[in-house]
Amino acid sequence: MKVTDENQPGPVYECKCCGHCCHGQATVSVSEQEQARMAEFLGLALSDLIDRYLNVKEHCTEMKIVDGHCIFYGDDGLCMVHPVKPFHCRRWPLHPSILGDEAAWKAIRRDCPGFREDVSYEEVCDFVRNNLHGIE
Ligand code: SF4
Ligand code: SF4
Repeated sequence: MKVTDENQPGPVYECKCCGHCCHGQATVSVSEQEQARMAEFLGLALSDLIDRYLNVKEHCTEMKIVDGHCIFYGDDGLCMVHPVKPFHCRRWPLHPSILGDEAAWKAIRRDCPGFREDVSYEEVCDFVRNNLHGIE
């Protein structure tokens, strides 16, 4: 049988830019190094970045939530700090908990429509293993 592109499965994962992962009442932590990178990217003093955009808690610093989404989620549906967004945002949805825990995979899948519909758990684990190392 001739194999055409239509017969090939699509990519395991492709972000649909739906913005779901930037919404909710919680956001991710931002390390001091990430704060410095964000301040430089936005042309702000670190203290101004913290005042305007961050929420300093006892054990971590997070991004502020405004109108039910991360303060950096833009009106155009894109991340305003994409080149310097925090590690946890860059890594999502390839979370290491997927490996060896199918329930974790199912929970992540419910929250992220970027995975191919017919993808198997084994394919996803391979994809996570092959791609996690490049995200630092
Ligand atoms: S939820 Fe998934 S598909 Fe939607 S923007 Fe986030 S990573 Fe992309
Ligand atoms: S920093 Fe960007 S990618 Fe991360 S939650 Fe905020 S808007 Fe979304």
